[in-house]
Amino acid sequence: MGAPGAGKGTQATALAGRYGIPAISTGDIFRSNIKRGTELGKQVQAIIEAGEYVSDEVTEAIVANRLEEDDCAGGFLLDGFPRTMNQAHFLDEHLEVAGTGLDAVVSLQVNPDALVDRLLERAQVEGRGDDTEDTIRRRMEVYAGQTAPLLFYYESQGILLDVDGTGSVEEVRERMFAAVDHQVGN
Ligand code: AMP
Repeated sequence: MGAPGAGKGTQATALAGRYGIPAISTGDIFRSNIKRGTELGKQVQAIIEAGEYVSDEVTEAIVANRLEEDDCAGGFLLDGFPRTMNQAHFLDEHLEVAGTGLDAVVSLQVNPDALVDRLLERAQVEGRGDDTEDTIRRRMEVYAGQTAPLLFYYESQGILLDVDGTGSVEEVRERMFAAVDHQVGN
């Protein structure tokens, strides 16, 4: 977990690589559908470009289907899901039925002032449709209102790992690896 621009995608890929598990990014799944012009892509494009969240129903169905695939049998990493309390409850129930659960939740913490700069920089490099200044502002608000409360939820479950997200990609990665290794007893 982390606010927009905190480095979730980059660090998620690194962490999944370390544990040999798939990184499942709901944002990537949506972007790939938009690019390919699928029904789902058409349905979500305007929502994403406005900086709003795709409905829980649609997002939960995508994650549930993805978790059924064979490569998730030995574990998985979710990047950008859950983002709402409903999604968090859905995930807990889904995993409980499957006889499993979350081992750790990583929260990447970055000072909000640094985030807007990072996102505007990324806009130049990647050209994402939701990296305009207005959309960035809206995504920050939506994150603070809907997603930040999930941190308390996971903290109360004793699985939240706060990781300082400032510094180089490598520095953050090493801090995160140490925290997760410790949590899962590696
Ligand atoms: P990300 O790549 O994780 O920053 O996601 C990009 C955008 O996809 C978000 O700003 C949302 O519009 C949408 N999105 C990704 N994950 C979710 C989710 N779990 N719930 C709702 N919308 C999502």
